[in-house]
Amino acid sequence: MAVGRYHRQEIFYPIGPEGQKKLQQARVCIIGIGALGASVANMLAQAGVGYLRLIDRDIVELTNLQRQALFTEADVEQQLPKAEAARAHIAQMNSEIEIEAKIVDVNPYNIEKLITDVDIVVDGLDNLETRYLLNEACDKNGIRYVYGGVVGSGGMVMNVLPGEGPCLECLLGPLPEEGSYDTCDTVGVISPITNIVASYEAAETMKLLLDSESVCRQAISMDAWDSYTEFFDVDKDPECPVCGKHQYTRLEHRQKSYTASLCGHDAYQVTPEDDGSFDYEAVVQALKGEGEVKKNKFFTTFKNDEADFKLFPDGRAIINEVPSGDEAQKIFAKYIDC
Ligand SMILES: [Zn+2]
Repeated sequence: MAVGRYHRQEIFYPIGPEGQKKLQQARVCIIGIGALGASVANMLAQAGVGYLRLIDRDIVELTNLQRQALFTEADVEQQLPKAEAARAHIAQMNSEIEIEAKIVDVNPYNIEKLITDVDIVVDGLDNLETRYLLNEACDKNGIRYVYGGVVGSGGMVMNVLPGEGPCLECLLGPLPEEGSYDTCDTVGVISPITNIVASYEAAETMKLLLDSESVCRQAISMDAWDSYTEFFDVDKDPECPVCGKHQYTRLEHRQKSYTASLCGHDAYQVTPEDDGSFDYEAVVQALKGEGEVKKNKFFTTFKNDEADFKLFPDGRAIINEVPSGDEAQKIFAKYIDC
């Protein structure tokens, strides 16, 4: 009999043929398809996880190639969204699984919908704000999630198991003020640590999918440059606003639209409330009378003397070369939300 694709995994006794079948029926959502998310997605696809939902808002850029192993220079040239580029590369490696790419910004309006119908959510995010939002959404909906984060040469991983263990806020405390902590944009990040953290995340995801007794109940902290890995206990805080009191302030804090500055770019992202009324095609059509419009499969770029932006089918826009969020909002109101 021919040996199948998953043979080495099936003879690994904690998985076995039964476990392999479970993996093939499993559904996983990965939020953030950068260094962590793309690597986790690749490993879970290799392992044969039956359905992967890849969520990311960004386009592949040259500076990503230093650590984001799936992507190529051709992806940069073609300005492919990360979720779509990852989907295409992974599909070439495993055509037997289903992969869905979602090119959206994760926000309070859409996060609960994005994480439905999956067994596990994996964190590949690059910012704490969205992580804290994800933590709330997973607690509220009782969805298990694997937290992973990297900065510099260090990283951390923890399984967040609603109803059982501590949550992200128990581990990290209240969300620190923006600018008060290190990020990959301020202190950089090296590829080895992203691969170590992604590997732990992928292994924990597989164990969780198999209800393995080996699921890690501690937090894991490691550093690839200082050469250490530590495991430590985290207490579930009964006073924790999220897993203790089930107060979901970020999830419920829905403004009409919000603006975020994009680190490392001279640009602001404006995200309108997703009330289902946005008509992408109509807006693109209207823009044609206002300036230069280029539309591809994934987004539309617009340029005239006053404005320069990318508009996505979900209604979100990245406004380039504006000095402030207010200016970005003005352009958004004039050309998109009009
Ligand atoms: Zn908590």
